[in-house]
Amino acid sequence: MNEKGILYLVATPIGNLEDITLRAIRILESADLIAAEDTRQTLKLLNHLQISKKLISYHRHNEEIKTEILIKELKKGKNVALVSDAGTPGISDPGEEIIKKCIEEDIKIVPVPGACAMINALIASGISTKEFVFLGFLPINKKLRKNKLEEIKNASKTVILYEAPHKLLDTLEDLKEIINDRKIVLARELTKIHEEFIRGDINLLLNKAREIKGEIVLIIEANKNEKENNFAKLSVEEQYNLYKEQGLDKKDIIKKIAKNKNVNKNEIYQKFIDID
Ligand code: SAM
Repeated sequence: MNEKGILYLVATPIGNLEDITLRAIRILESADLIAAEDTRQTLKLLNHLQISKKLISYHRHNEEIKTEILIKELKKGKNVALVSDAGTPGISDPGEEIIKKCIEEDIKIVPVPGACAMINALIASGISTKEFVFLGFLPINKKLRKNKLEEIKNASKTVILYEAPHKLLDTLEDLKEIINDRKIVLARELTKIHEEFIRGDINLLLNKAREIKGEIVLIIEANKNEKENNFAKLSVEEQYNLYKEQGLDKKDIIKKIAKNKNVNKNEIYQKFIDID
């Protein structure tokens, strides 16, 4: 019986063509087929890399039918490289359908890492990278959008959003209602000539919004009050473990928990008397 092929999820550049990895090039060269979100876009990359390969279109509107076709090929032993127009497949881009199906069919999936706009915007933003939530594009549907905005309002972690330039003003106006003085960073045109980070607050971004062009990621600081509220709700043991993970010593941990819980230090000390 034929060995099944492998589905490679290959990240491609988000602007600067030098951001393709050696491994990605090797996989694109050796794959039997490349499934591409927009074949014309991928052809430009392949021409640049001097790779000639059979391309199959795989986008949001044909995901179901193309998944079937690609699964047949994978079952015949063909290796398939899945790419999106830019960045990491499956991140606000097609991919989920075929990945689910491959898991069902016991077909091996291999991620081939590379550029991803949200990660690069986050790491250079200056906003906490410890914990974050990626919400993709805000929905257009009013009710869904309201729910997402509520989630951003109460987020106890850094929030990452993708946005299209023509929708930026609307999005910033909606955010103004909910993020008050939380820090916000707009990263645009990452890895390209006009790469820029605008770091400040929502009013600063609103003032500049009409001039902002290109591809955009927004990074929003966590709601600190919410973070504190959530922390206060944790049990004494949970707080102890979290402080311990942060590297605090026992004496300081006990002091902090006593303050958070508004109780006497000794009361907390008794609970942890046998712990180092
Ligand atoms: N899969 C991609 C990734 O890994 O980042 C994201 C695809 S999503 C359809 C496109 C959105 O990603 C854009 O609207 C923008 O929000 C963000 N994006 C992509 N490239 C970017 C870049 N060079 N600079 C800033 N944002 C970018």
